[in-house]
Amino acid sequence: MGYPGPTSRSAELYERALRRIVGAVNSPARSYAAVGLPYPVFIARGQGAYLWDVDGNRYIDYLAAFAPGILGHAHPEIVETIARAAADGTLFGTPTPYEVELAERLQAAIPSLERVRLVSTGTEAVMSAVRVARAFTGRPKVVKFEGCYHGHSDFALIRAGSGPATLGQPDSAGIPESTAAEVIVVPYNDAAALEAALERWGDQVAAVLIEPIVGNMGIVLPEPGYLQAVRDLTHRHGALLIFDEVITAFRVTYGGAQNVLGVEPDLTTLGKAIGGGLPLGAYGGRADVMDRVAPLGPAYQAGTLAGNPLSVRVALKALDILGRPGVYEELDRKGRYLAEGVLAAARRHGFAAQVNRMASGFTLFFTDRPVRDYASASTASKELFARFFREMLGRGVLLAPSRFEAWFVQIPHSQADLDETLAAADAALAAMA
Ligand code: PLP
Repeated sequence: MGYPGPTSRSAELYERALRRIVGAVNSPARSYAAVGLPYPVFIARGQGAYLWDVDGNRYIDYLAAFAPGILGHAHPEIVETIARAAADGTLFGTPTPYEVELAERLQAAIPSLERVRLVSTGTEAVMSAVRVARAFTGRPKVVKFEGCYHGHSDFALIRAGSGPATLGQPDSAGIPESTAAEVIVVPYNDAAALEAALERWGDQVAAVLIEPIVGNMGIVLPEPGYLQAVRDLTHRHGALLIFDEVITAFRVTYGGAQNVLGVEPDLTTLGKAIGGGLPLGAYGGRADVMDRVAPLGPAYQAGTLAGNPLSVRVALKALDILGRPGVYEELDRKGRYLAEGVLAAARRHGFAAQVNRMASGFTLFFTDRPVRDYASASTASKELFARFFREMLGRGVLLAPSRFEAWFVQIPHSQADLDETLAAADAALAAMA
């Protein structure tokens, strides 16, 4: 099984795209190379929990645009907000009242954000947070964790997870040795390895950059005490702690994962869900650190589109919707129901499988080992994942095309959608057994 019905229009678009768009995709993670299908489905529109491709096939959407998707497609309040904001003009190159309100509301949701700067993508947020950490500490090096992904800036691609790893390309060409020399990579969930790295290079380390719950080697949870150990080690060595919450913020809970994990970083990066489907990122944290950014301080960071009123007004509406009573409880309940159901189906059909879950996001790994770091995540079978992806696609369920990504349940997923998905998973796994 592969596509759920005729896909001749997707095939045609793919041929056309190949001639003008590199690899026919505007982000490599969208390629179907790793799942053994000749071309991706081209999506024409979305509504609620569903997507329709250009040939009219319908999919229940758990790709969720690689994590921003939480409100569902074309949420009526978001559509209305976009129309109203667009009618007022979309870009002024000046401060706006909307960005002041958003900064205040982000700080109310994530108390460590004493100061923020709005940007347009997660990549920019992380790149900028690392720059200000270097400016503040006067140190050059960054510690990151094998399998965490922080966007595609040079330093961030040193042994990064998800996209590059899916394509068998853990590093990128085009990154100078001198950049790689400033990046120290250690395994996740291994405080002793971080301690050893900081013992050796600690006085040169500006920041330790981590996804507090990892979303990019599949979902991987921090073991009890691990993040506190990371916090203590950064304090001991005078390095800043940066939580990359581009996936976790407003996914795990209203606010940051830090709200529930009980460890406070110096700086935090945001993206994905905060934009309500439009391009928006942010970074922020301690006032004494952030005040090193221009125009107050010497760390330069800027953006023509940064804090554009369209994205910001949509973000404000997204926060309204996400802040309503019971939203996260219901997302969590649906995430648990689906994750437990899929895991039970895999085991019922004789597959060695694990599920790691953070609220409404989870990953099914085809492996017999608990997944706690990149080494164990990498034991998950590529072949079984690819087959499962195809079997699910053929049954009208759209997943991310990589064993290192996650399923994301969204507000409009109904109980009937979840049950249809579990029936599809059962049939898919039966076909694979
Ligand atoms: N940080 C994390 C944790 C991410 O998952 C991503 C994207 O997947 C990024 C940063 C980069 O964000 P963007 O793709 O918006 O540049």
